[in-house]
Amino acid sequence: MTVVRLQRNAPEAHHATTCAVCGSTDSRGVTDHLQAGTPGVPHEDAGVCENCGSVIDRVARKYGPDVTMIVEQAQTEASEREITTADPPARPGQSPGV
Ligand SMILES: [Zn+2]
Repeated sequence: MTVVRLQRNAPEAHHATTCAVCGSTDSRGVTDHLQAGTPGVPHEDAGVCENCGSVIDRVARKYGPDVTMIVEQAQTEASEREITTADPPARPGQSPGV
């Protein structure tokens, strides 16, 4: 389990020069401190800009701090398996033409 901890307006963030979320290099805009990793043992320590920090803040406020996120790309093309034929086989009990 990975826990992302965000501390808003943290003094630690003042050393960071880029936002770990959007990649902005406006170091004056990096105001928040993000730690990610297993609880108590963060393996990532990064700065986050004001905009990204407020997005993470809003998500956490709306869905609770214990939210688990799964991020996926929407599927835009059908895979081979999902292409349905125009003439599906008749189901048992349905005898066409009787
Ligand atoms: Zn950002």
